[in-house]
Amino acid sequence: MLDKSNELAAWDRDHFFHPSTHMGMHARGETPNRIMAGGEGVTIWDTDGRKSIDAFAGLYCVNVGYGRQKIADAIAEQAKELAYYHAYVGHGTDASIRLAKMIIDRAPQGMSRVYFGLSGSDANETNIKLIWYYNNVLGRPEKKKIISRWRGYHGSGVMTGSLTGLAAFHNAFDLPRVPILHTEAPYYFRREDRSLSEEQFSQYCADRLEEMILAEGPDTIAAFIGEPVLGTGGIVPPPAGYWPKIQAVLDKYDILLVADEVVTGFGRLGSMFGSDHYGMRPDLITIAKGLTSAYAPLSGVIVGERMWEGLVKGSDALGPIGHGWTYSAHPICAAAGVANLELIDELDLVTNAGEVGPYFRDALQEAVGGHGNVGEVRGEGLLAAVEFVKDRDDRTFFDAADKIGPQVAAALAERGVLGRAMPQGDILGFAPPLCLTKKEADTVVAKTADAVKSVLG
Ligand code: PMP
Repeated sequence: MLDKSNELAAWDRDHFFHPSTHMGMHARGETPNRIMAGGEGVTIWDTDGRKSIDAFAGLYCVNVGYGRQKIADAIAEQAKELAYYHAYVGHGTDASIRLAKMIIDRAPQGMSRVYFGLSGSDANETNIKLIWYYNNVLGRPEKKKIISRWRGYHGSGVMTGSLTGLAAFHNAFDLPRVPILHTEAPYYFRREDRSLSEEQFSQYCADRLEEMILAEGPDTIAAFIGEPVLGTGGIVPPPAGYWPKIQAVLDKYDILLVADEVVTGFGRLGSMFGSDHYGMRPDLITIAKGLTSAYAPLSGVIVGERMWEGLVKGSDALGPIGHGWTYSAHPICAAAGVANLELIDELDLVTNAGEVGPYFRDALQEAVGGHGNVGEVRGEGLLAAVEFVKDRDDRTFFDAADKIGPQVAAALAERGVLGRAMPQGDILGFAPPLCLTKKEADTVVAKTADAVKSVLG
């Protein structure tokens, strides 16, 4: 066992180019690299047999938990029956058609069609193309700019990395590219003017957005994209009244709304979609992760009725849409999606997220919320974060070089729980599988309190 794992670790250092990894440190063997081997429910283990509670569900994606026989069987059956056929020129399979219907049945009102991709990044790439195509079809070729938010995360391709509002995804890649702009993040805890109430800060964000639209010219702004809850940028639920105020500005200037629900879709907030949770009225919804619980790679763009009508007009004028991936609606991934959505219903996981989520957050607050270096415990549904500060009263932050967030995450991992040090700021994030029980939540909280104590006293 040990030999095998050592051999694998050597091959890993020598041959595997990992995403979002310090390349030099990894190649030199200076970073701990765990080789994962199996999982069951919320528990995962590595090739050395070390078990951990995965309190981040991989990358907030294994929503039904690990080891689900139903999904494994669906994948195997589909592979045997028909491993692949493409979806071009109107082709489909039982699984892909069935999944499209299941998604629309669960989606917010007014949604019409699902375009399938493989990753959240490629789905947002599709969104950008559909938005541009749509405005060309409507005869407004100038209306092309897309506004995102600082700290938003929408992928790491050329255009989607541009939408992402995090420095590490821009620096040295010559991003962001035009015509993508970034506006204020709805990050109440880090607001500059501390006298503002949540509602006032939401109005401030809406005002900044309107200012940007007016400065650029409303006829040049095509769309606004946002995650219902900022995810990778720090797990930040919106302040009270944020989405209605943003929606009002978008309506005023005829600007499309893209809800990026890659993290929030299919139950994470305790509602099937974040758009319903916050009363957003999106024209496009990005889905991935929880769509298959990552048992197979699959994403999608849910297209609203108003856009669909425009796209159909485009086809009538221009012919078949020049956009498609070989693996769009891949039958094996679609079969995984059907089984996954059935499982979410059978296990009532959306309700569970709505119940265990607040329990978990309250327990975290109770356990670490009073610590002098904890600025805030926040979250929504089964998304939660603890933000560390140097001084709680002055709300000053640690130097990034102190790596307080990564240190706490590492101390927690040593104690058998995987959280995530979010990439910007000292923030420990949690997004456990939606099947988390209250007992498992208690364990995560106790280990977190112990890890915080070990690093910060
Ligand atoms: N949108 C959001 C909100 C995400 O969180 C992510 C991934 N974390 C993406 C898009 C990109 O998805 P992928 O990594 O599958 O390309």
